[in-house]
Amino acid sequence: MRHPRAHAWEAVTATAAGAGLLAGLRTAAGYPMLSAPTLATAGLGLAAGGLMAYEWLSPRSWLYGPVFWHAHTTERAIALTFDDGPCHPYTEQLLEILDREGIRATFFQVGNNVRREPNLAAEVASEHVVGNHTFTHPHLVWSRPGTVREQLMRGQEAIHDATGIVPNHFRVPHGWYGPQVISTAGELGMRCVGWSVMAWDWDRPPWDVIQRRILHGVRPGGVTLLHDGQDTDAFPKADRSHTIAAVPHIIGSLKANGYRFLTLPELMDLDALDPRQPGTRTR
Ligand SMILES: [Zn+2]
Repeated sequence: MRHPRAHAWEAVTATAAGAGLLAGLRTAAGYPMLSAPTLATAGLGLAAGGLMAYEWLSPRSWLYGPVFWHAHTTERAIALTFDDGPCHPYTEQLLEILDREGIRATFFQVGNNVRREPNLAAEVASEHVVGNHTFTHPHLVWSRPGTVREQLMRGQEAIHDATGIVPNHFRVPHGWYGPQVISTAGELGMRCVGWSVMAWDWDRPPWDVIQRRILHGVRPGGVTLLHDGQDTDAFPKADRSHTIAAVPHIIGSLKANGYRFLTLPELMDLDALDPRQPGTRTR
């Protein structure tokens, strides 16, 4: 079933198109282009079009369906999430750090990388939560629903074959959600996930820059985005050493500030506005 909010984007599209058309018609009919009604309808069209585009490209998309990107809570709890793995040797190094710190995290794995390193994927899944990050890590924002479905299903199959689990969380590559991505993930039984803070670590800034960016943006209920892998064709040239070097410092600072670390489903359970929780307000 489609989420009721998935219909909202159709209303916004109609508003953008209708207002733009009306402004165009008024201009063509000889009304002054700079008259207040023409400017108002053109402005409405532009605003609705801008909202559509923003929501399409936002990792926190709201208009096209629910994307979880933080929990509404004042409790100092966050979820660490890592994308694009598994990827030797960085994923193993990360597992060691998390094990030492007694932290469970969430890994959005790419199916093709799981196929390459199934044992490592299984090792991750034995301790942590694993989510789907497609099969080949493409841009899906303009893809047809059939392409989206194939990417998601092949990702599910690869993860299931390697780990025995079927993920119920999905993060779109590059963070660009469109309505077809959110509805397809929902049809396949997955909740879409974004993030609240990231460090642009794919550009491999020094580890202390990665640490600073995360600590600067972190809030109670937040979701961090870092990378233990890199697309699907970078191996063995992928280099996540800066991220791995930053993680112990990030964890140490957050612990010193009273934060505790949850998996994504645990953080979702903490969300005071989660519509699945009885007796809570809906978003
Ligand atoms: Zn990714």
